[in-house]
Amino acid sequence: MSELVPTSVTVGLLAVLGLCIGSFLNVVIYRVPEGKSLMRPGSACPGCEQPIRAWDNIPVVSWVLLRGRCRSCATPISLRYPLVELATAGLFALTAWRFGITAYAVAVLVLMATGVALFMIDLDHQRLPFVITGSAAIGAGLALLTDAVVQGTEPVLRALLSVLAWFGVYGGIWLATAGRGMGLGDVAVAPVLGLVLGWLGWGPSVVGLMSGFVVGAVVGVALMVSGRAAARSRVPHGPFLLTGAGLALFVGDPVWQAYLRLVGLG
Ligand SMILES: [Zn+2]
Repeated sequence: MSELVPTSVTVGLLAVLGLCIGSFLNVVIYRVPEGKSLMRPGSACPGCEQPIRAWDNIPVVSWVLLRGRCRSCATPISLRYPLVELATAGLFALTAWRFGITAYAVAVLVLMATGVALFMIDLDHQRLPFVITGSAAIGAGLALLTDAVVQGTEPVLRALLSVLAWFGVYGGIWLATAGRGMGLGDVAVAPVLGLVLGWLGWGPSVVGLMSGFVVGAVVGVALMVSGRAAARSRVPHGPFLLTGAGLALFVGDPVWQAYLRLVGLG
């Protein structure tokens, strides 16, 4: 199927889709932690409460044309809105490039979209809302069921074992640290990541599980050295967990193969 559509077309289309989904994620990131409806009211300027018109709500483009200010009252519009849209577009394009037009790619896209929302909400509120994690589990689960129908059930057992491994590691840390090391939100997100990575292979699953902690340690040390954080300050683990899993989707297999060669098993 992917031969019928050139990769460049798929990647371009998914980038545009990513911009639109990213625009919706900005609403999710702002409203879900406050328990507000995602549908109404429509977006309004926080300064003058003027509703934002459709043509001022085009992802990235409107922000650039308005030079990052409200059309009515010139209140600055944060740079993070176009950045979230661009990041989502980049992740969607990368997914299309790596996984083509497949049911598995849909599972990864679900993970990318919900992952961006969880990443930002954890930074803002130190929370990973269960409603988003649940949506990720249902969306990715349905896509993988479709993949099993198309590709066969070979990955099913591995993915289920991977779910147990991720849940075991994160649940174990949560119990051992009495909830101080990480939150229940992390324990809930971990098995969903384990599911999608385990479906791909053991390499991505193991590398994803490890790299969450490696990325966390590297960023933690960098923050301490630069004086931005004290040794005991609370840095949410979710963004590291999600970044590690994201990296493993793309480089998990080569890293795992290199490791096996290094220890003489490959
Ligand atoms: Zn305004």
